[in-house]
Parts: sequence; C-alpha cells; structure tokens
Amino acid sequence: MREERISTIGVEKEVLVDLEEFISEVEKMAGRGARFVTASCRDLGEEGFEIIYHFDIDHKVENIRIKVPKGREVPSISPIFFPALLIENEIKDMFGVKFIGMAIDFDSKLLLHQEAPKIPLLKPSWDKEPAPERKIPPCREACPAGIDIPGYIRLIEEGKYKEAVELIRQQNPLVAISGRVCFAPCETKCRQTIEQSPLSIRLLKRYASDKAGFDLDKSKKPDTGKKVAIVGSGPAGLSCAFYLAKLGHQVVIFEALPKPGGMLRVGIPDYRLPQDILEAEIKTITDLGVEIRCNQKVESVDELFNQGFNAVFLALGAHQNVEMGIPGEDDEKVLNCVTMLRRVNLGEKVEVGEKVGVVGGGNSAIDAARVALRLGAKEVTIFYRRTRAEMPASPEEVEAALEEGIKIEFLCAPTKIERKGDKLAVTNIKMKLGEPDESGRRRPVPIEGSEYTVELDNLVIAIGQRPEVSEKLGVNIGRGNRIEADAMSMKTSRDGVFAGGDVRTGPASVVEAVADGRKAAIAIDKYLGGDGRLYVPEVPYPQQFVMRRDMKEARKQIPRVEVKKLDPKERVKNFNEVELGFTDEQSAQETKRCWRCDWNE
Ligand SMILES: Cc1cc2nc3c(=O)[nH]c(=O)nc-3n(C[C@H](O)[C@H](O)[C@H](O)COP(=O)(O)OP(=O)(O)OC[C@H]3O[C@@H](n4cnc5c(N)ncnc54)[C@H](O)[C@@H]3O)c2cc1C
Ligand code: SF4
Repeated sequence: MREERISTIGVEKEVLVDLEEFISEVEKMAGRGARFVTASCRDLGEEGFEIIYHFDIDHKVENIRIKVPKGREVPSISPIFFPALLIENEIKDMFGVKFIGMAIDFDSKLLLHQEAPKIPLLKPSWDKEPAPERKIPPCREACPAGIDIPGYIRLIEEGKYKEAVELIRQQNPLVAISGRVCFAPCETKCRQTIEQSPLSIRLLKRYASDKAGFDLDKSKKPDTGKKVAIVGSGPAGLSCAFYLAKLGHQVVIFEALPKPGGMLRVGIPDYRLPQDILEAEIKTITDLGVEIRCNQKVESVDELFNQGFNAVFLALGAHQNVEMGIPGEDDEKVLNCVTMLRRVNLGEKVEVGEKVGVVGGGNSAIDAARVALRLGAKEVTIFYRRTRAEMPASPEEVEAALEEGIKIEFLCAPTKIERKGDKLAVTNIKMKLGEPDESGRRRPVPIEGSEYTVELDNLVIAIGQRPEVSEKLGVNIGRGNRIEADAMSMKTSRDGVFAGGDVRTGPASVVEAVADGRKAAIAIDKYLGGDGRLYVPEVPYPQQFVMRRDMKEARKQIPRVEVKKLDPKERVKNFNEVELGFTDEQSAQETKRCWRCDWNE
C-alpha cells in the first residue's frame, strides 16, 4: 500500500506505506536530499502502532507514516539516517516496538516507559513552536473508513458541497446512503461531547449529498485490461467496485438477488433509506463502467477465473437468519427477520396479524418491529434478554421505535412456541444479568419458575445473522461461518481471492463494509501489478488557517440542531422517509459547532 495524503499547513506531503515498502520509501527520501527531523509514535490499541517519520526538505516537512501490527518488527532507518537511532531507541523504550538493524541499540538506556511523554514528539528543529499541522482528530480516528470529517464540515461551511462530497468519496463512495444510515461511530468520539451533545456528523454528510446531487466526478484511469469479479453488491462490493473502476480495471459484480444493494436494499427499510436514493448512488458507480449482473448466484470461484477474471472479491454479506432452537419455531406464523425484510423491501406482499412479537435487541429487531407496524400490526412488542444498556441497536433507532409506540420487554426470552388455533402461545422466561460473557456484556441468566405466556399473531425471530458460504468457493472458513481474510489486505487463503464486509467480520455496519471494500481495492490493484494508489480527485482544502483555541470557546456553547422528522402517528402508516434532513439554516448552525480538532496548534 502506498497512499499520498493532501498537503497541509506545515506539512508539505505525507505518504502512507506498508512495512514492506517502507525502507524503499525512506531511501527515496534520502535520494532527494532529505534531512531526518524526528519521528512520533502512537499506540492504536488492537490495531498496533502508528509511526510517523518527519523529514525536512528545503525547510518543508514531509512525512512517511506506517502502521505496525503489535509484535511485528520495524526495519530501522538508522543505517540510512544515523540520527534516527535516538528516536528509534526512545520509541522502543516507550512503546515496546522492536526495530531490526539499528545502528546502535541502547538497550533501554533512554526514556523509561514511566517517563514517556503523553504527546507525540512533533517538533521541527528550526522553529520554537511546532508548526501548525493538520492531524487526525478523534472523530476521524473513530471512523472505520477514516473520512476527513472536519475537512468536509469546513467545505460545507464554505458552501462547497461537491468538494465536500468528493472529499468523503476519497474514503467512502456511498455518501448519500451513509448520510442516512451510518451508525456514526465518529459522533461518539466527537470532542463536543465534553461540553454537550456531539456534532451531527452523519446528518451533515447527508446535507452535503442532498446539496451536491449525484452528478459527481466520473474521471478514471485508462483501461488496464485487467478484469475483476466481485461477488455481492452490498456496500463492500460497491465500494471495491468504485475504487477499482476508477483505477481503470474492468469490474463485474455478480448478485444473487434480483436487485443490487445487499442489505441496503433488502435489509434496511425504505423509511430509513429510500430506494431512489439507493438507485441514484449505485448509478454513480455503474456510470464508471461497473457492470452489475443480478440473479446470478456464484457457486464457484474457479468458474470466474475460467471466464477470464484476474482477481475475485467475495463480499457475500451475512444473510442467514440465526435460529433460536426452541420448540415450535418452525410454525408458519413464526417469521424469520431477514426473509421478512427482504420480501417487504423487494415489494412482495407480507401479511402480519394485529399482535406481533419480535425477539432480539439489534437493529434488525428494531427494523422488523417498525416494519410490522407499517404492515398493519396494532401492537408490537420486542422481547430482549438483557436491559436497554446492553442493547446493540443504535440508541436513535430504539428511540424512534419507542416514539412509534413499540413496546420493549427487557430481561426475557422465549423458550417455547405453541399453536392455539389461529394464535401463537409464546412461553417467555424472565432473566437476570450474571457475569460478563466474551462480548463484555453481562450474561442473561434464566430465573427458574418465572415462565409466563404471551398470545401473539406472529413472532419474528431477529437474534442475528451469519454468512452463508459454500465450501465450493475453496477459501478457508472460520468461526461463525466467516471467510478468513487478512484485516489489512483482505487476502483469503486462496491466491487472487479477497474477501471483506460482513462475510469477513460477521454482521457489522455499512461503513465497516465500505472500508473493507476500499482496502480490498488497494490490495487487488497491487495484485494486478498496480501500485495500490487510489485514483481520487484532489480536493483543494481550505488553506486559510484558523486558530482553533480562539474559536473553540465561542463554538462550544451552540446547541446541537435537532433534525425534523415525520410525526410518529402519521409515519407508521407508510414507508416514507422519516428523517427530513437539515435545512440551510440548520446546517449553518451545526457546522459552526465544530472545534476543528484537526489543527494541532
Ligand atoms: C435489518 C438490517 C438493518 C441494518 N441497518 C443498518 C444501519 O442502519 N446502518 C449500518 O451501518 N448498518 C446496518 N446494517 C448492517 C449493514 O447493512 C451490513 O453490515 C452491510 O450491508 C454489510 O455489507 P456487505 O457488503 O458486507 O454485505 P451485504 O450488504 O449483505 O451484501 C452482500 C450481497 O451479496 C449477495 N450474495 C451473497 N452470496 C452470493 C453469491 N454466492 N453469489 C452472488 N451474490 C451473493 C447477497 O445477495 C447480497 O446482496 C443493517 C443490517 C440489517 C440486516
Ligand atoms: S468538534 Fe469537529 S473536529 Fe472535533 S471531534 Fe467533533 S466533528 Fe471532529
């Protein structure tokens, strides 16, 4: 991987490289007459470490950034830049990162771990103050796709909507979709949370997309003559297709279902993601020459290679409903969540009775309940075995369901389903919370003798999904029926075959699938002989520097803008989009709340 970053104030250029390419990049730097300034290191937790090497060429800073998985050794640059041995020894002492081939190894004689500074060393030698430099803010760090959030917020503030969308598309091509359905992990880390509620980062993304429309950049590199088959047209497949097509590769997506989009089409209901938005965003990808062949289930990777494809990306998602394994589950009045949502989203007629129960605590359970209401149910109750605090569903969705009159019964789970004439008699048992399980959440423990019966017309089982992967695909399959693939390169056990999205991670999110698709595009391009550098339009970043500490005080008191939604009593009668998006005034107020944590002054 080699990725060049936008130029920023104080930093002329920055390249991200894999460990394998790192030394050749350092040698190039030496060849250009660079002087080594220093390096900074950050512990990224499970992801490993990030080391940024700062060089000076004609009093301009250029960085080389690498990610180091925990336990991996880093080639020392001290044989090329002798002064680097000091900082390498410090990083070794502070973080435990091992360097190989160090010119001198001081063997823990520099900083002791306890003395480690809390901030990275980032000081150009010719200046008293560190130069103002753009850094990665907490929101961007929390985004699995690494979107430059303050960057696009600033572009929106300046009315540059298309530029804002193009900046987002450098990391995530599904802007309108993500602006509607992303779980927004960025918001949970937003610095505004220290003072009050976080920024509405997701809704600002939607606003930028609403303003920019779908007539976006269609530039691509000349045809490379290489063909890539993508199996699955969900967010992982679409993202991979977008970046590969821009690099000039010929891309065909094979989709088993009659319409493209994966769970965006057949999982997420229209009241959260209207189909015309989905269609329009998919068109921005097919406009690049990507072909989508629907109703084509791929059973064998060999067949794809025989058809002349040079690489394959498996983005199959997780579409198999997990069963409860209790008596009576096979009754025709017991519905499987994935099948029910798929049928509704594909326009089939699905009938439910007046009283519907839903088992589960995730987003699928909430969607199943809200859909049941829109199909005509009068009373919908979700049964969840833990408490609200442990519910994996996003809080906004839970709130929306409660507003619509859906009830949630916590600490209970069905143990038996019986048919009583036209009705279901569902026996539930009450639960209490025990010790935490491997997910970190407290385990629900049944309370003996606490069984009670509920009469329902239908019960929807929404306790999870798992991938459906045929052994004939010839790749290693691991726990939970997931395809085993490297988290950075998406490489599977089979040469030329890559896998990502829910089929690799298990059921996750749109933004994680998009990030996997992008990483796969980089790896596939390299596999096909390219350099893995994505072809995305440059977005001129507003260069005018604003002192963050001056504006922060003024900004932190502005309250979060609440977006207008359809009235709960009215909206349950149809599948119209519930959230209405920001007005110009609301967007202007919300963008003003951003502290611009991307400046390090
Ligand atoms: C009800 C529901 C609501 C959700 N809501 C949200 C939300 O609000 N926000 C969010 O971020 N995430 C949400 N998610 C999760 C999100 O939709 C998924 O994490 C994401 O779609 C995974 O993307 P993917 O590309 O890996 O797989 P998918 O989107 O599942 O796409 C995989 C595609 O591969 C196709 N396929 C499978 N096998 C084959 C084969 N052999 N040949 C050809 N095609 C094949 C499938 O038909 C499918 O179209 C939701 C999930 C569900 C079920
Ligand atoms: S205030 Fe702005 S830059 Fe800072 S974390 Fe929140 S969105 Fe990101």
